[in-house]
Amino acid sequence: MMIDGDKNMSSMGLVIVGAAGRMGQALVRAVHTMDGVHVDGAVERAGSACLGKDAGELAGVGRIKVEITDDPLAAFAKADGVLDFTTPDASVDFAGYAAQARIVHVIGTTGCEAEHEDKIRMAAHHATIVKSGNMSLGVNLLEILVEQAAKALGPNEFDIEVLEMHHKHKVDAPSGTALLLGEAAARGRNIDLDQNSVRSRDGHTGARPSGAIGFATMRGGSVIGDHSVLLAGTGERITLSHHAEDRSIFARGAVTAARWGNGRKPGLYSMQDVLGLSA
Ligand code: NAD
Repeated sequence: MMIDGDKNMSSMGLVIVGAAGRMGQALVRAVHTMDGVHVDGAVERAGSACLGKDAGELAGVGRIKVEITDDPLAAFAKADGVLDFTTPDASVDFAGYAAQARIVHVIGTTGCEAEHEDKIRMAAHHATIVKSGNMSLGVNLLEILVEQAAKALGPNEFDIEVLEMHHKHKVDAPSGTALLLGEAAARGRNIDLDQNSVRSRDGHTGARPSGAIGFATMRGGSVIGDHSVLLAGTGERITLSHHAEDRSIFARGAVTAARWGNGRKPGLYSMQDVLGLSA
């Protein structure tokens, strides 16, 4: 078996930032078990209790001879790509470092505000970035189905609501996936999501605005990610759903994105591009 920390010229070396997090550990497990890639570095925030630990041991796959450090620049300098499921501020910094190192940067981090998105878009002038609120094949297919359904079923006949549930530790709402599905519905209706979304309801809200795209958020337990898009008409209702049972679906998608982006010209790409699903 290959030890990830040992140099292997034919294999793509990936740095996992946020290596001690829920997704970070899932990424270490995925990269360690997939062909043609190896864990080349593991980075955590300064002050993390996990600095100095072996990334493989922490993720439960045994020692891989990759120590978790708080030095992204040194890790990026010798790698081919970065897998990043951290925080918006950290992802902006990593985009700059990945651009300097000229390596592909896969961003799964959600909860980015407009200022983060702007900075990531700027970095993509010099870097190859693949960013998506959901890296799974299933949700990316669902995105297309939602766009088609929203296009076929107009706002006078069908109301669209996006419902999501995640584990109790999740810090942003609605989820990146809920927003991605809302964007798909808005594209299908040819409307701007920001101008037409209802993100929460409380008290005397009045009747539902026609054409609005509503969001409902639930948090609790260990749910990895449940999403449904409801199209509610008079006398009938369509529900398009996805249930994530294991974080490995996102981790494998991120590795696929890194391989796809390796050596590709700078730009900001999505999982739809990676999977060949974009129009
Ligand atoms: P988590 O809190 O378990 O892990 C985040 C890790 O990032 C932590 O270990 C933290 O210490 C580390 N971190 C923060 N700042 C850092 C820095 N500056 N340098 C290095 N490490 C740093 O969270 P999680 O559940 O793993 O989720 C992480 C992100 O990924 C969230 O935004 C979540 O919504 C998103 N996510 C995306 C997808 C997708 O498919 N796109 C799937 C699941 C989760």
